[in-house]
Amino acid sequence: MRRVAVASVTAVSLALGVGIGVQTWTAGERRAAQDAREAARSRVDGALAVVHDDSAVRAAAVAASGTAGAAGLLTDARAALEAAVAQGRETLTASDGQVGADDGPRAALAEQLESAHVSAPTASPALARQLAAAVSAAEQAVHAAVSAEQSRVAAAAQAAQAAQAAQRAASAPRPRASAPAATPDRCATTYSGPAFYTSAPTEGGDGSNGRLPASALTAVSWTRDSRGTPFYLRADAAAALERLNVAFRAALGHDLALDLTYRDLDTQVAMRAALGSVAAVPGTSSHGTGLALDTPELPCAYGWDSAARAWLVAHGPAYGWVSPTWARQNGSNPEYWHYEYRG
Ligand SMILES: [Zn+2]
Repeated sequence: MRRVAVASVTAVSLALGVGIGVQTWTAGERRAAQDAREAARSRVDGALAVVHDDSAVRAAAVAASGTAGAAGLLTDARAALEAAVAQGRETLTASDGQVGADDGPRAALAEQLESAHVSAPTASPALARQLAAAVSAAEQAVHAAVSAEQSRVAAAAQAAQAAQAAQRAASAPRPRASAPAATPDRCATTYSGPAFYTSAPTEGGDGSNGRLPASALTAVSWTRDSRGTPFYLRADAAAALERLNVAFRAALGHDLALDLTYRDLDTQVAMRAALGSVAAVPGTSSHGTGLALDTPELPCAYGWDSAARAWLVAHGPAYGWVSPTWARQNGSNPEYWHYEYRG
């Protein structure tokens, strides 16, 4: 339309230009020219009218486009509101039962959603934006409430676990206050009679059982009894025991412990009196000849199932030292502590 109007104006100008240049024409020519001018003016008027119409159309178009722009703004705001409402409804559904005792934030969101729903169809862009913002804010409050509730539940669970652990610890059996007492009991000495000690060589001894002079005896090198008396044995038995102890220490990590070796006659008499038939008849004991030893009567260290006894029974004979048949566990007088030198 605009291009057509411009073309028309150009045509009119050309027609007018033709008329302006005529000054020496005849009357007939001037009339013809006047007619032509009027015709041209008429066409200009027409053309101007077209131009005017075009402007009106353009103004209308501008106005229309302005309306369309406004409509676009409105559409955008309402779409945003609808999106906020849809999201708010999802949050409301998902948070059901997730905010703990205080359902206030969810109630507030529900209220905002209802308000938005009612107002949305007629809301101006500004109101739509305002409602969308309010819905979003209420929704964020619900998210915060859900998050707080989750933290509270997690903390409560942790506290419950701690309480359970504490209860278990409290109800669990004490780390066996009786156990340390039981261990010494089990390992305590199996000897309950009066204390006897190993004997020093018998002064003026005649070499008979329980009457051995110092010349017949040799003390072992690594230990003495609790009163400080050396452990005496016949010289060859003592020498063999020295070698045995070296091997024993290598295998067990410690020296062989001794309780009694040589025992003089007086001590044997006293022992027989105290212990009865468990002690040998005085004058017959292998301790009286310096050919016997007793380990401590400690069942854990030297008892039937101890590593020390197992080693002594297995390796002692190589050094001439044996556990006599009568002293074995199934023997006539079981004594796990008693060993004899047989050479
Ligand atoms: Zn013995």
